[in-house]
Amino acid sequence: MEEKYHIIIIGAGHAGCEASLACARLGLKTLIITLNVDSIARMPCNPAIGGIAKGQMVREIDALGGEMGKITDLAGLQFKILNGSRGPAVWSPRAQCDKELYSTLMSKSLQDQINLDILQSEVTSLIVKNNRVCGVKILTNEVINAEAVIVATGTFLRGKIHLGNMHFDGGRFNEHQASYLSKSLIEDCGIKLGRFKTTTTPRINALSIDCSKMLKQSGDKKPIPFSHFTEIEKWRRDLRQLSCWLTYTNKTTHKIVSDNLALSSINIGEVNSKSPRYCPAIEEKIERYPEKTDHHIFVEPEGYNTNEVYLNGLYTGLPFNLQQQMINSIVGLENARVIRYGYAIEYDYSDPLQIKKTLETKTIENLFLSGQINGTTGYEEAASQGFIAGVNAGLKILNKSPVILERNKSYIGILIDDITTKGMDEPYRMFTSRAEYRLSIRNDNADLRLMDIGKSIGLISDKVYRKFELYRNTLTQIYKGKTENLPTNDDLSPWSFEKVNEEICIYKKYKGYIEIQNKTTNKVKKNENRRIPENFDYNKLESLSVETKQRLLKIRPQTIGQASRIHAIKPSDIAILTVYLEKKRKEIKGEY
Ligand SMILES: Cc1cc2nc3c(=O)[nH]c(=O)nc-3n(C[C@H](O)[C@H](O)[C@H](O)COP(=O)(O)OP(=O)(O)OC[C@H]3O[C@@H](n4cnc5c(N)ncnc54)[C@H](O)[C@@H]3O)c2cc1C
Repeated sequence: MEEKYHIIIIGAGHAGCEASLACARLGLKTLIITLNVDSIARMPCNPAIGGIAKGQMVREIDALGGEMGKITDLAGLQFKILNGSRGPAVWSPRAQCDKELYSTLMSKSLQDQINLDILQSEVTSLIVKNNRVCGVKILTNEVINAEAVIVATGTFLRGKIHLGNMHFDGGRFNEHQASYLSKSLIEDCGIKLGRFKTTTTPRINALSIDCSKMLKQSGDKKPIPFSHFTEIEKWRRDLRQLSCWLTYTNKTTHKIVSDNLALSSINIGEVNSKSPRYCPAIEEKIERYPEKTDHHIFVEPEGYNTNEVYLNGLYTGLPFNLQQQMINSIVGLENARVIRYGYAIEYDYSDPLQIKKTLETKTIENLFLSGQINGTTGYEEAASQGFIAGVNAGLKILNKSPVILERNKSYIGILIDDITTKGMDEPYRMFTSRAEYRLSIRNDNADLRLMDIGKSIGLISDKVYRKFELYRNTLTQIYKGKTENLPTNDDLSPWSFEKVNEEICIYKKYKGYIEIQNKTTNKVKKNENRRIPENFDYNKLESLSVETKQRLLKIRPQTIGQASRIHAIKPSDIAILTVYLEKKRKEIKGEY
């Protein structure tokens, strides 16, 4: 271990891994400290990377020079484009992964990385002098000095596990909580902490399920890798995809749950913190939607070398025996044997209004926060922040300007802008509806949007960038109809003519819509000060979600600008509201 590091990262989850690799690749002496080196980049919930809007973020991390996409291509066991029947703007790549392989490969990447040391220990406090962080203290009381520190502690700060009526300390099942660091964040750094919670599902033995009663969900016939740098043809040849299965809950399942709501750790009052609205426990779904008689359950493998399967949609905090009963009430799972039970976890988070867009804290210089500690949920949200925190901590030490991604350039920019300007009252996850420019920030063009930035940061090599430039030039050339002196497919690889043609096709299809999108967005910006009538009935706007209506009715903003700054109000909501008010203004001049 060095006497002094440029940067220390606390936590080797998805945020910490991206942060540490980015710092080390910028040439800085980096140390990552984590509670357990056997759980580097562990996926404690579904071992799936990507999905709606999240897939776009992984492509963006990759285009900027991050790691998540590369590892996913190597560890994925099923690849699918979600929303494939809709327009390319919302196509979202998703991969079910082998969770052990993912963790092993990310761990190996960290071990192989020059400038990066790994240490298994618990950071107990931050060393702060004159409002500037200058190191950390670990469990053995040793102090390790550094110029900057990135906190990426996930669900571990004062983590508490709830399983039915059992409650015990833990950062995840079988992993101990980080007990001390919260106190230091509060007392030494002036950071205010809140409590959030999340749940996970039971895992069952694949040999005990009856797949013949369920609907097979295969991977794509022509899978698309996440990383721009994966050699697609070879990768497709080597890939062995596994199937997932679809089944449903039913009236019996719902009865078991509703009869026992009082026994769930979700409802007995011990867990009084907020959980992610869009990853609800089955108890919450049944309470929220009593009219629904079934809910999807996707049965998904967790790896090539394990029989454990994940029950996507069955997040729960019910006691053991009820989880077993509930599972056995589902078609195809009548004889299913549980290997691990689902549980809820409650943890400390820091309201991200306390950080700048660089992810540096406002109170303590050179202290950065990233990942779940900022109130977000999800591996991709964590990795995106980890990458940006790593880059900005590194650039600051190198005396260079920070990277702040724009909302019209990336989902990562939207995530950071949303959380640092609106804060949050429940865990934040990314959706395409949060993006006012979603027609232009697609998964297919992440490289065209961001690789120049990756190059300027120093995380895209000259060799790779030359290939990218060749691809971009070829794209322009073919778009303009010039077909002489084109490179060969080999010259373009890992890009290809398949990709060139797809990109041109999407661009032509979307050109007109993108112009309309930009006009609408500009109109919304111009309408910042437009007044909203005092008793405006938001229920009239059918296209607004129930959540949006509830928030607007509760706060009753006076202007469009004020409405747009309410937590979880999306740009698409504001566009709907603006267009409606505009129409009404024309109908009843003066009132609106
Ligand atoms: C039970 C459970 C259910 C979940 N359900 C969902 C879900 O439904 N949907 C969803 O999107 N996401 C879910 N998640 C969240 C998902 O796991 C996280 O969003 C993601 O892993 C966060 O990444 P991270 O890097 O911020 O933190 P983590 O992946 O949690 O990693 C934190 C790391 O920090 C280390 N660490 C913590 N404190 C210290 C310390 N003081 N010293 C040294 N090392 C430390 C830990 O060892 C760990 O390696 C769930 C998580 C859990 C635990």
